[in-house]
Amino acid sequence: EESISVSELSQSMGVKASDLIRKLMQLGTMATINQLIDADTAALLATDFGFTVEKKGFEVEEFIPEVEVDESKLVNRPPVVTVMGHVDHGKTSLLDAIRQADVAAGEAGGITQHIGAYSVQTPKGPITFLDTPGHEAFTAMRERGAKVTDLVVLVVAADDGVMPQTAEAIKHAQAAGVTILVAINKIDKPGATPERVMQQLTEYKLVPEQWGGETIMLPVSARTKQGVPELLEYIALQAEVLDLKSNPETLAAGHVIEAKLEKGRGPVATVLVEEGTLRVGDAIVTGIHYGRVRAMMNERGEQVKEVPPGYPVEVLGLSGVPVAGDEFNIVEDEKAAKEVAAHRAEKARQKELGSVKRATLEDLFAKS
Ligand code: GDP
Ligand code: MG
Repeated sequence: EESISVSELSQSMGVKASDLIRKLMQLGTMATINQLIDADTAALLATDFGFTVEKKGFEVEEFIPEVEVDESKLVNRPPVVTVMGHVDHGKTSLLDAIRQADVAAGEAGGITQHIGAYSVQTPKGPITFLDTPGHEAFTAMRERGAKVTDLVVLVVAADDGVMPQTAEAIKHAQAAGVTILVAINKIDKPGATPERVMQQLTEYKLVPEQWGGETIMLPVSARTKQGVPELLEYIALQAEVLDLKSNPETLAAGHVIEAKLEKGRGPVATVLVEEGTLRVGDAIVTGIHYGRVRAMMNERGEQVKEVPPGYPVEVLGLSGVPVAGDEFNIVEDEKAAKEVAAHRAEKARQKELGSVKRATLEDLFAKS
């Protein structure tokens, strides 16, 4: 499990790497300077050079705080909504229409940033939308057992009906146990037949409320904005039914929605806070990257100092560009964040070395 590279061991003991390699050869191991050697071999070597080795266990989990389940501290949080559907059925157009319906738009200048997640103020309260290109982040998170989305808005074009990616989206949402709300889009078009779409959806166990089922299906037009305020209202209503709550009083945790490297800003990650409150200055770790939250920006490009659960935000200050779909955690201090990240990097490196070794073995078998 535990291991150290020949060069690291030589540095920590102040012994020449070539001497270590020679010693390893005497022990029957051919090693290079970058090779990882296990703890037992390292201990043996160290003893040969007059050192004693203390084995220190290291558990990443020690640094990651447990989620505190304190019923008394739970407060309502906004619903997190993902818009899914077949290509060209109007996901982007609908998200744009929703952005424009933001009631906070007037005074604050509206949503200016095209970031992977944003919060919209509606008369019934705030709603968080994930604007993920494709569904990669959503599926990646689901594969890892995380349920980030509370509701899926399934966009189906009224003139086109259920298509392969519609079926795919339904499958993903149903497998994740997420409530689906159907937006039958493009009803402004002459060839629009919403009833046909409703009929088609019953084949996927989505029966409209109008027909005695449980699924809300709304005719909308992203182009004329017809039905958009109603859609937001229904989302808010569904959220009330789901009674979504989080504890804002713990160290923050959540997921990376998207991330990129920006000139002059460094790594920028859009994260969704799911537990706790995220603050500027917090020590953050996500995957093999870590840092101190240097600044945070909302979807209006405004700097924010703290972000409660259910809200997305852009985070600056990470050591590298994290992976969309990865969890992020706030830990006690930057030292802990660095250690967790380093430990994960080391583990990933070992895994890679392992797979290289396996590949080589397979190559050998293939040749013989
Ligand atoms: P996406 O691939 O699902 O994101 O679809 P887009 O939002 O890019 O829309 C695909 C095309 O359909 C674009 O040309 C839009 O202008 C058009 N479109 C989207 N919504 C509507 C609508 O409600 N009515 C009409 N007539 N066209 C729409
Ligand atoms: Mg699109």
